[in-house]
Amino acid sequence: MAAGGSTQQRRREMAAASAAAISGAGRCRLSKIGATRRPPPARVRVAVRLRPFVDGTAGASDPPCVRGMDSCSLEIANWRNHQETLKYQFDAFYGERSTQQDIYAGSVQPILRHLLEGQNASVLAYGPTGAGKTHTMLGSPEQPGVIPRALMDLLQLTREEGAEGRPWALSVTMSYLEIYQEKVLDLLDPASGDLVIREDCRGNILIPGLSQKPISSFADFERHFLPASRNRTVGATRLNQRSSRSHAVLLVKVDQRERLAPFRQREGKLYLIDLAGSEDNRRTGNKGLRLKESGAINTSLFVLGKVVDALNQGLPRVPYRDSKLTRLLQDSLGGSAHSILIANIAPERRFYLDTVSALNFAARSKEVINRPFTNESLQPHALGPVKLSQKELLGPPEAKRARGPEEEEIGSPEPMAAPASASQKLSRQCLQGRAVS
Ligand code: ADP
Ligand code: MG
Repeated sequence: MAAGGSTQQRRREMAAASAAAISGAGRCRLSKIGATRRPPPARVRVAVRLRPFVDGTAGASDPPCVRGMDSCSLEIANWRNHQETLKYQFDAFYGERSTQQDIYAGSVQPILRHLLEGQNASVLAYGPTGAGKTHTMLGSPEQPGVIPRALMDLLQLTREEGAEGRPWALSVTMSYLEIYQEKVLDLLDPASGDLVIREDCRGNILIPGLSQKPISSFADFERHFLPASRNRTVGATRLNQRSSRSHAVLLVKVDQRERLAPFRQREGKLYLIDLAGSEDNRRTGNKGLRLKESGAINTSLFVLGKVVDALNQGLPRVPYRDSKLTRLLQDSLGGSAHSILIANIAPERRFYLDTVSALNFAARSKEVINRPFTNESLQPHALGPVKLSQKELLGPPEAKRARGPEEEEIGSPEPMAAPASASQKLSRQCLQGRAVS
């Protein structure tokens, strides 16, 4: 099975593009200033990462069932016909020797600049439990993953772009949530219960009441992220590997306000998502709570597949609302974001069926077209010159409404820690007590 640029595929892409236009992106466009031309499409980028054998059993007794062919393609044995292999082509293929830096620099770093243009971006790690999603997103003390690297770079970028004397003042906030059994839980405020996902009149997806913490340094980020990760970790131990059964969503917002007339403001959202395991839980013979969890997870990931199919076929109705995950991703898939899906796969034979299904999902996803646009409007006080206090710089008006008084804190102005040490600290602490998932 090879992916090519057939006429049929191009037709599907065009149909998907129109579906995207009538989703949030299209509606928003009309209310944006300066958005007179239709924004160019940006296909969802899809990368596949094959992890190395982790149990030390690699060798003649268990040869890998996947083989990389070049930097974009791979092949896997066809279980229906052993003489054949199934071939796949993606935007990038990262083999078992690839490093965290390869994945970050090759597939994630290039999309970060769009946040400063007021556009949305998202990174999703997909794949069966044990295939390396958390390693890719979070990493280890020695090998920090996408999350610490992206935060480090983004904070650096916003500090440079928002420095005194530059035209725009920039501020960054973070939220961190988990979707577990179709409930949206605020990991920065675990007592807050199930939260509701809404869409504003411009097609932006919002979660009223979700904590948003201002961050101006990597130390700020760690201060909020580490305890929140531990909240999730406690659950993992108590609730039988909960972390592999929930979707962890880190949301980083970059807010920009123009210092001089015409006093525009822009907001770019970055989603960094460690999805629940995509394995077929019916095969695992789960019972009780596990079965209930599996059902919910299957619903979310099943609907994700249906959303991708509906976008590809240009169907008039895209079933975003059928699950919390897809509702949240509405502006990230077939919507307004620059998206990258990293499908994580494992070389061991016992993963074979899940690997094929992850690859098939990844192949379908790469045909989805997004239509990113700049999320720009005038500042509410645009009629007069603004003197932005540090408090004002901390977030958009809706962020302030959603925040409680204890969250109105000001990010510490301390300089950023050196990348390696800060990332290591983050990863080391995150991984302490983390259940294998
Ligand atoms: P998932 O989150 O998909 O369930 P993990 O990220 O927890 O999977 O990975 C499962 C195991 O494999 C962990 O012990 C992890 O450290 C290891 N692992 C995953 N990817 C790699 C890699 N690229 N290199 C080395 N070890 C890896
Ligand atoms: Mg995991």
